[in-house]
Amino acid sequence: MNFNTCLLHGKNATRYPDGATLVPVSLSNAFRYETIEELERVFSHKKAGYAYSRIGNPTVAAFEQRINELEGGIGAVATASGMAAVSHTLLNLLTPGDEIIASGCLYGGTIGLLGDLEKLGIHTHFVPRLDAVTIRAAVTDRTRCVFSEVIANPALQVLDIRQAAQAAHAAGIPLIVDSTTATPFLCRPLSLGADIVIHSTSKYISGSGNAISGVVVDGGTFPWDSRHFPALQDFTYAGKFAFLMRLRADIQENLGGCLSPMNAFLGTLGLETLGIRMERICENALKLAAALERAGVEVNYPALDESPGKQLCEKQFRGLGAGILTFRAGSAEAARKVINRLNYACIASNIGDVRTLVLLPSTTIFSKNTNRQKEDAGVYEDTVRVSVGIEDAEDLIQDFLTALESAQI
Ligand SMILES: *Cc1c(COP(=O)(O)O)cnc(C)c1O
Repeated sequence: MNFNTCLLHGKNATRYPDGATLVPVSLSNAFRYETIEELERVFSHKKAGYAYSRIGNPTVAAFEQRINELEGGIGAVATASGMAAVSHTLLNLLTPGDEIIASGCLYGGTIGLLGDLEKLGIHTHFVPRLDAVTIRAAVTDRTRCVFSEVIANPALQVLDIRQAAQAAHAAGIPLIVDSTTATPFLCRPLSLGADIVIHSTSKYISGSGNAISGVVVDGGTFPWDSRHFPALQDFTYAGKFAFLMRLRADIQENLGGCLSPMNAFLGTLGLETLGIRMERICENALKLAAALERAGVEVNYPALDESPGKQLCEKQFRGLGAGILTFRAGSAEAARKVINRLNYACIASNIGDVRTLVLLPSTTIFSKNTNRQKEDAGVYEDTVRVSVGIEDAEDLIQDFLTALESAQI
């Protein structure tokens, strides 16, 4: 089955009660049983079923199964947001004294979270460019994972997943990737060697900017052992499911960042059109990036011929780029002028919507980060981020060129 067919006819996408074509929305906090013994069996995992929606819910489970199928994992846990997916994953694995090796090009919220983890005694070693050499150089006997985005938001640096996975595995640690901007349409990181895949499904998967949500998928490839991961020691009975078991039955249950069934429904609905949206969005982004480049603007877009990411786009994303591009306007003032003169692009702090969105990252989503963190993440005071939508490319190009001209850049 090819990608778009799988979105509609995949093995978890077909049979719902009463012949409903869409997954029913189960807005129930609790699930009742005929006898207390039955509920006890559900609680002790001896009987399949749902007890309380913070721990499990049929609509949320359907969403998890769909994402898991697309990524090719052994299971998935959906979360209240992308940040909950990242924080639950790291808290699931790490204990005080542990170290993380992370790309310096990360989403601002994730950089903030890694700062919070310092206060819990978990140290992150940031490297400007994550590859086999920098991973090997940064590994210590306390390193417990390598963390990177597949296509960094907003730096647009592309990770060589296979190379990073090999280097992490040689050091006996897992590679965890945030694949929000790539989506399963551009690539399936587990098939290239990553061990855990995270998505903010608030973005391209929901697709219309209507549901904050996230998900974590385990590829089933990493041998979780309690010597390296004492955090998992009570769950090693679950074998290769140890990571997922603790994530659902301990971290998610006790920290409480569960996904709302309504948002799971919206994510499942969004998934059905992920392929056609991403195809159009990536096509538009390349056209807009090329047009801006022709107009003499300094553009960052990984699928452009001269981009350092071009070869990896060919290798990992079938030559496609991403739905985001950034450009430098020359000064913060010029960047503001261009942004304010755009007609079609909405000034909003989100990505992955069907409509084009634009902002100045330095003073918005990165306003809490240091100058050093901003530069590592490719954010300068004049950097404009564009999350390209599905409008007609000619209209978008015209809009940007007119705004640039009237701002005299
Ligand atoms: C948006 C985003 C997040 C955080 O997701 P939320 O759903 O907003 O919590 C994490 N990583 C990346 C790459 C993102 O773009």
